[in-house]
Amino acid sequence: MLTLLLACSASPFETGATDSGGSSGPSLVERVELARLEAHLAALQGHADAHQGTRLAGGGGYEAGLDWAEALWLDVGLSPVRQAFPHRVFEELSEPVLSWEGAPDQPEITTFQNSPPGEVRATLQGVDLLLPPGAENASTSGCEASDFEGFPSGAVALLQRGTCTFTEKVANAQAAGAAAVILFNEGQPGRQDAVEGTLDPAVELDIPALGASFALGEALAALGPVEVQLRVDTRLEQITVHNLLVDLPGASDELVVVGAHLDSVQAGPGINDNGSGTALVVELALQAVQAQLQPESTLRFALWGAEESGLIGSSAYVAGLSAEELDRHVANLNFDMVASPNGVRFVYDGDDSADLAGYPAPEGSDALEALFTDWFDQEGLPWKATAFSGRSDYGPFILAGVPAGGLFTGAEGSKLDTEVDEYGGQANLAYDACYHQACDTLDNVDLDLFLEMARAAAHATESLAAGPPLTARQPVLLARPIDLPGCSHRVLR
Ligand SMILES: [Zn+2]
Repeated sequence: MLTLLLACSASPFETGATDSGGSSGPSLVERVELARLEAHLAALQGHADAHQGTRLAGGGGYEAGLDWAEALWLDVGLSPVRQAFPHRVFEELSEPVLSWEGAPDQPEITTFQNSPPGEVRATLQGVDLLLPPGAENASTSGCEASDFEGFPSGAVALLQRGTCTFTEKVANAQAAGAAAVILFNEGQPGRQDAVEGTLDPAVELDIPALGASFALGEALAALGPVEVQLRVDTRLEQITVHNLLVDLPGASDELVVVGAHLDSVQAGPGINDNGSGTALVVELALQAVQAQLQPESTLRFALWGAEESGLIGSSAYVAGLSAEELDRHVANLNFDMVASPNGVRFVYDGDDSADLAGYPAPEGSDALEALFTDWFDQEGLPWKATAFSGRSDYGPFILAGVPAGGLFTGAEGSKLDTEVDEYGGQANLAYDACYHQACDTLDNVDLDLFLEMARAAAHATESLAAGPPLTARQPVLLARPIDLPGCSHRVLR
């Protein structure tokens, strides 16, 4: 999806991590201690507290986390590597404004993620609108350059959601000379609210873009070429962000990536999302060293940056692999939110058994799912399959055909009655009511659940280190377009 260039594309991972002596003593599972995981969470909370309450990628809180994990890993003799990638930081500085003569006080509008800032007063011009909307999603408004034939340069383009990506629509409007875009929802059931969309940060756009509800778009279209005034107040800045990677070299050529995203959203410290996964991955690497694990397959522990902005760090990592390096990748384990306060033991559905609407899992992912589910079964702990929705860092791996698996305890979705029967907690309340909010603090984690997930993760990691029971990597040919919105609930089209 992203045409990002990597600062390090050749393999920089020539670390000699363990001494020798074979793996003996307590297993990785037995070495997982809640007190240590908690201390890691507290450290991450401290990084946010010292930096405006956030660990947003590229910010001070994020950099503190990099330094912290790097120091811990260096301390046990590991050789972590920082992998640089370019990232466009986006920040919404204030609410968007849209007005015209007779406008309601609070029109239903949003700022597109990654929209450039801008203030425009110009005539509104509808572009290939489908009103009333059909029963199916059929609008192609703004998808073709020809939609803009006769479009008056300098006007504000009124576009309707449908068919192609928001980015393509805005780029076409910009090429046609539009000064700004108002993009309203398509109009079918479920496509009524103000669009909350993300523009591809890799595409250079100069004009501001607002999302609008279907009702607002319909009303504006009925007004004809009315003069509107709009303002989008954002900051977009090109910066360099780093992933942090460390290898525990194996005897064979095969390589397993055990990853979690380090960054939080701007709104909060991100202790469940994803301090929990970060603490887990940091600790697994430390304990693998303590256990003198001598893996058959190389274990590569990864902390990803800018996941919350669209899986930027993990995409850059996968995009930077040569075909030969990619072939070495036999598995990606992903841990993103593993201590949700009203959580469920979700395991990514690697065998597609649950018939969930998600990305098809590459062959071999079934074996990864089984590593977790067999463990939970053995422990007498219920678990539930969850779809590969494309919302976390396994996304670029499965699109490249690398088998993936991992754990998740739930985000903004509501807990079902049936889940309460099995997992306790509260029905009709979010798995994590503080998801992407300032209250995702140290108080926002279920420590018992965290330990259970951590032990399962340790079991899977240790099992894979012994040589993964996986088939060879199968290239996946996906007919569908690549939409990987990251942890965000925002969509690309
Ligand atoms: Zn996350």
